[in-house]
Amino acid sequence: MRQKLFIGVYIGILALFVLICALFVVELSRSSAMSKEIQSLQSRSDSSQLQKLQSDLDSEKQSNSQLSSSIGALQKSYDQLQNNYNDLQQQVTKIQQTKAQGTVNGKVAYLTFDDGPSPLTPKVLDVLKQNNLHATFFVVGTCAQDHPDFVKRAYNEGNVIGIHSWTHDYSYIYKNETNFFDDFNKLKDYLHDLLGVFPTVCRYPGGTNNTVSQHYSDHIMQKVDPQVKATGIKPYDWNAYAGDAESGPKPSADKIVQNVLSSAGPKTLVVLMHDTGVNSNDVAALPGIISGLRARGYTFGTLTPFTPDMQFKPYGG
Ligand code: ZN
Repeated sequence: MRQKLFIGVYIGILALFVLICALFVVELSRSSAMSKEIQSLQSRSDSSQLQKLQSDLDSEKQSNSQLSSSIGALQKSYDQLQNNYNDLQQQVTKIQQTKAQGTVNGKVAYLTFDDGPSPLTPKVLDVLKQNNLHATFFVVGTCAQDHPDFVKRAYNEGNVIGIHSWTHDYSYIYKNETNFFDDFNKLKDYLHDLLGVFPTVCRYPGGTNNTVSQHYSDHIMQKVDPQVKATGIKPYDWNAYAGDAESGPKPSADKIVQNVLSSAGPKTLVVLMHDTGVNSNDVAALPGIISGLRARGYTFGTLTPFTPDMQFKPYGG
């Protein structure tokens, strides 16, 4: 009887142990499932956080690149302003130098070259450089378009670039005011695009008192001249002529020198020459003109709106 009881208790304990084991296995499998779920949740959460971080990083990168392009644009504007400032500063220095030199003896010569540029222009520039002086070039637009580098070189070496005409076609530009200003403004804008600054001086084809324009339109010079001046661009004629662009036999270098020096005397001497290449004797004549004028007490300057007026007999007869 006691043995049966013992066996019964033993079986009960065994059954209880089996039950506990079963419960433990069930609990263990639940815990493992939960841990898997947690892991999956964790990994999902990491991935979404990573995505968020990635998108933050992308937008940060984008705004950095926008900022850097804005900085680039600002830098460009700053450089442009700095260029304009340097150019103005150079002009002021040159005016001050010319003024200071002018007060010594009061005589200033302004060499001017019309109708270029041409392949002769670099040779003219070489002579100017060798003699340490600057000149004013009244360019023709169609020629500037053929040789933009010559215009740039002249400007970069400290010479002044002025407006002459885009076409230099009297029958077109002097036909009416619209034609005149279409032609004039085309060259003005072209030079601005090429050099980054607007020209401040000009020379009318044939000069202010040319009579040819009368063939195309009555009193056209009288109409356009005040309008040109109102834009702040100052027109300049000349009072010494090299005689280098006349039709017929081309004058020799000596003759060109003689032509210019025979006009020397006035306090302000504006010398008209041409760098068209029609007469290459101009280049050979330049050193003689420069030394001859220096010997007569002249210093050299470039034309700006602040240099003395040189406009003969306004508006023609
Ligand atoms: Zn001309």
